[in-house]
Amino acid sequence: MTRDNKIKKYLPQAKSVFYLVQCPKCGSRQVIFSHATIEVRCLSCNELLAKPTGGKAKIYGQIIEVYK
Ligand SMILES: [Zn+2]
Repeated sequence: MTRDNKIKKYLPQAKSVFYLVQCPKCGSRQVIFSHATIEVRCLSCNELLAKPTGGKAKIYGQIIEVYK
């Protein structure tokens, strides 16, 4: 008789970081949380910069810098 007990290990969510994102529309820069849970819009032109996905947010602008 064999028992196949596979213990699945779930690693905690990857470390959260902050991104410095440049708006593709107006070029202004803004810091966005990598796991943003709400839509993030550009403060200057209201362009959508990040959208929550349940995990890591989808970033629409260009990531200039990553703050760890
Ligand atoms: Zn903008």
